[in-house]
Amino acid sequence: MRDLWDAEHRCTNCNSIMKKDNMSIEGMEIRAWKCSKCDEIVLHPEDAQKMLVFNKIKKGISVKVGMLGESLVIRFPKEVADFYNIKKGGEVVIKADSKKKLELDVKN
Ligand SMILES: [Zn+2]
Repeated sequence: MRDLWDAEHRCTNCNSIMKKDNMSIEGMEIRAWKCSKCDEIVLHPEDAQKMLVFNKIKKGISVKVGMLGESLVIRFPKEVADFYNIKKGGEVVIKADSKKKLELDVKN
């Protein structure tokens, strides 16, 4: 199968051939095509999708606290687990931020 990333793209504004470009948005490597003539930018659809998921998680996703034996448990929604590559048996570090806020460091 032909990779979209290797295909030639033309600018929808000026029809010039667009150049591949890697940009960093909020610490994420995003693939994009940039028009050298008019500066139009098109994000790689896979990476644009990642940005959407990231922005959704940034707003906060509410989860219920459950009980497992003597411990309280929270579940990671699938998109959060996928985005952060959290797997069963994996490790996260719980860190205090304030009395109302916890931070999780994903170790992988
Ligand atoms: Zn252009």
